[in-house]
Amino acid sequence: MQDDRYENEPRFFSAPRSQEDVTVRPRSLDDFIGQERVREKLRIYMEAARGRGEPLDHILFYGPPGLGKTTLAGIIAQEMGGQLRTTTGPALERAGDLAAIVSNVEPGDVLFIDEIHRMPAQVEEILYPAMEDFALHIVVGKGPLAKTIGLSLPRFTLCGATTRLGLLTSPLRARFGIVEQLALYTEEELTRIVLRAGGVMEIQILVEAAREIARRARGTPRVALRLLRRVRDVAAVRGRGSIDAEVAARAMDMLDVDAEGLDEGDRRILRTIVDLFDGGPVGLGTMAAALNEDMQTIEDIYEPYLIQKGFLERTPRGRRATGSAYAYLGKSAPTGREGFLLPFDGEA
Ligand code: ADP
Repeated sequence: MQDDRYENEPRFFSAPRSQEDVTVRPRSLDDFIGQERVREKLRIYMEAARGRGEPLDHILFYGPPGLGKTTLAGIIAQEMGGQLRTTTGPALERAGDLAAIVSNVEPGDVLFIDEIHRMPAQVEEILYPAMEDFALHIVVGKGPLAKTIGLSLPRFTLCGATTRLGLLTSPLRARFGIVEQLALYTEEELTRIVLRAGGVMEIQILVEAAREIARRARGTPRVALRLLRRVRDVAAVRGRGSIDAEVAARAMDMLDVDAEGLDEGDRRILRTIVDLFDGGPVGLGTMAAALNEDMQTIEDIYEPYLIQKGFLERTPRGRRATGSAYAYLGKSAPTGREGFLLPFDGEA
């Protein structure tokens, strides 16, 4: 189930990868499209914190990859007048790794830890006093000569990101004053994101082409932007000045992303559940083994979109293909599970 979607997933690190990435990334809350509820709350919390002359409380974002967690951390830093410093949970192998980063933090900075659930337990423990009292307690030396050195830190904001809230230990979760979930984006929001990025990247793109990309972007800005870049390539090679819906659709067919936004990976999951497990319910572990794929990838990358599209259901006994999944695969569903495919509103 290899595809180049992974190349862009922040499984290990999610810093901007190119200059273009840096310019496309929204820099202020006003440029950030969608997630209205989260934006509104952030606006209030930041204004209140600024009024008190304090940094924003520690904040945790959770949701599937590519929805804007890193971007929001950058916006918070920008709007609170601090610097953004980024790292990831797995990169913090030893207490010293965290100490090295935290001791460079300045007042008002935002320390962003992506995949914070993958931070080793011994690092997590020294993070607690850093979050609560802005103090670092590091043990130096070994055995009878070991001693603890205390360092006081400037007041900073820790911004943690995780794909799922349930992966965090409860003591860590309890230390975040603000916990916000990022949801998949609507087609309308993604259309605006594509148009905005097109403007920044100086790509001429028609609204209906942007909508075509948005429709197939799995509710995820990162996917929408990746599709936009590929569509731009196709348009360039075909010598079209601007991108219309036809070029966009053709480019996405080449990428094997169909009109429902599903790719070969998604189709394999649906086919496996339907063909091998009679439509389920089937446990995640069993499904992952049958697909030769890891469970976290299925849960983080594929499932949210398949569930949003109504092709997959989570039941207490496992995953279940819906009637719509059968209809999508062109198969007749077992009785009691008949579904329908919504007509596709646009040129396929
Ligand atoms: P995450 O940290 O959740 O994996 P990122 O913050 O790295 O996601 O966002 C992925 C890409 O999508 C970035 O290039 C960013 O510019 C873009 N992006 C994310 N959210 C938005 C948004 N709401 N509006 C515009 N662009 C966005």
